[in-house]
Amino acid sequence: MLKKYYYFAFFILFQFLLTSCDSEKSETKKANTNKSATNMFENDPHSYAKPQEAVITHLDWEATVDFDTKTIDALASLSVETWEVATKIILDTKGLNIKKITLDGGTEEVTYSLGDEDKHMGSALIINILPETKTVNISYSTAPDAEAIQWLNPAQTAGKRSPFLLTQSEAILARSWIPIQDSPGIRFTYNAKVKVPKGLMALMSAKNPTKKNINGIYEFEMTQPIPAYLLALAVGDISFMPLSDRTGVYAEPDLVSKAAYEFSDLENMVAAAESLYGPYQWERYDIIVLPPSFPFGGMENPRLTFATPTILAGDRSLTSLIAHELAHSWSGNLVTNDTWDDFWLNEGFTVYFEHRIMEKLYGRDYSEMLASLALQDLEKEVDAMIKNGQKEDTKLKLKLKGRNPDDGMTSIAYDKGYFFLRNIEEKVGREKFDGFLKAYFEENAFKSMTTEKFVKYLNRNLVRNGKNGITMAEIKGWIYQPGLPKDRPKPHSDKFAKVDSVLNVWKNGESIRTLISQKDIANKTWSTHEWLHFIRSLPKDMTIKQMQELDRRLNFTNSKNSEILAAWLEQSIRHDYKWAYNSLKSFLINTGRRKFLTPLYAEMLKTEDGKIMANRIYKKARPNYHFVATSTLDKLLGWEEDKE
Ligand SMILES: [Zn+2]
Repeated sequence: MLKKYYYFAFFILFQFLLTSCDSEKSETKKANTNKSATNMFENDPHSYAKPQEAVITHLDWEATVDFDTKTIDALASLSVETWEVATKIILDTKGLNIKKITLDGGTEEVTYSLGDEDKHMGSALIINILPETKTVNISYSTAPDAEAIQWLNPAQTAGKRSPFLLTQSEAILARSWIPIQDSPGIRFTYNAKVKVPKGLMALMSAKNPTKKNINGIYEFEMTQPIPAYLLALAVGDISFMPLSDRTGVYAEPDLVSKAAYEFSDLENMVAAAESLYGPYQWERYDIIVLPPSFPFGGMENPRLTFATPTILAGDRSLTSLIAHELAHSWSGNLVTNDTWDDFWLNEGFTVYFEHRIMEKLYGRDYSEMLASLALQDLEKEVDAMIKNGQKEDTKLKLKLKGRNPDDGMTSIAYDKGYFFLRNIEEKVGREKFDGFLKAYFEENAFKSMTTEKFVKYLNRNLVRNGKNGITMAEIKGWIYQPGLPKDRPKPHSDKFAKVDSVLNVWKNGESIRTLISQKDIANKTWSTHEWLHFIRSLPKDMTIKQMQELDRRLNFTNSKNSEILAAWLEQSIRHDYKWAYNSLKSFLINTGRRKFLTPLYAEMLKTEDGKIMANRIYKKARPNYHFVATSTLDKLLGWEEDKE
């Protein structure tokens, strides 16, 4: 067929260019400069886009946000680069109401078709274009139940006065609010003009305002190319407080001072990150603290991390989450996983980087506590996955075709990825590994990376066929084999060893009042991580009496620290400690962070009484959760899709 012939001809041309000149510097006129030549023909199993034919390079977005109808009415003008033979451009959409499509400056509507809707991927929007087409303009509106968007009523916010809108586009939900080529391997710049109700402020993953605008119209500019999953919008009664020349915090007015206190170390954190792996490339680094229904701990939207309020512990003890989101400014946002099968490239590197930032700021013992907790999470999850018949998903390189890419958001990508990189560091030495990482971020900035390409890069620049203390067989074992290698790094924390010894003495009958004094509690002698280790290591056959004894002394049931509370509530369900159930109910209704929700509901489902309680609470709590959380929990609890 003709089309195939042309593709083949281009492929040959590219092979020629690759071998005859430096592909990164070559400027082939018709070539798509957006995707690097080497991964031009990689297929993203979660996008309909065919960037080989026509690829987007820029988005101009004009939108009106309507809280009454829960819709966004918008015009998306996409700049495109086409191949000589291009007759169509394919975009990803999900549930969008497409009204009109025109090309370039014309007013005449062009023909298009919407493909069949897939449960996860949505529908392909196939638009007829010409090889010389430069811009495609799409008028559309979003559906009230668009999966990326959460519309919160005033009661669901801290201030209780104004509504709030937040988006979560990762992994493949950007297509539910913007028609776009929704693949992490395709990057574009964007400008936006967003109209919101007067009195509210809009923010995006772009250059942002710091003050409310009287007419409710906000303009945005993102000049660095990003993939669609990093598109983000938040609208609400929001204030800003600067923390340094290039960092600051946004939150509802009632929360902004509390947030500024919690993140006062932010500038030091950015400086620590830069000293490790090179300059911060996104100009500003701000954080927005969202209402509690935000489904993740944080989302690394460029220039503006979206964060859960559950990290506002009041004592700056949970800020490693911010180190994680900041680290994504290098791993993920700068060097991006090419498809969701390569998700560990985003998250494993980020956890490694996060621990290094925390080590730099608070010392090795602090980061070793983080690493020990990560190993506990990882071992627990690997066991559970193998028991559940998900052995294949315990490999770093995933196969998510035909599935929801969210299935890959497990400890494997994060913590197995971390221990893999730490294993390399321990084998080749820190100095060499740091040099390698710095160069990796620099050379691959604003590009996407596949696992296979990374393996080659690693061998060429560090492993050198086993000459540097680690073999390629070992590397490939970590990436392509299930489970955890026996020879894996073993974090050690003296602080955790002390916690273990206190626990042992307590288990042997000593009272907790003797072991932990009122003074220790008042002075916060133990950090959040030590308490987490303590709670997680409680004996399996603990009695109600023992739980009461701990709770009377340590008041876990009323903890204001979300991590400590969630760990304690899990133990409470396990041991049917009814005194904590009011707290459990209120926590589940008011918090939408999936990381806390999933283990608590899963623990309840283990008994018949627990099942009844879980369903009763879920019925009440579900309207407060984002789609990302309900899609996991509906499956877990066996709820039908539309059961409200
Ligand atoms: Zn992350």
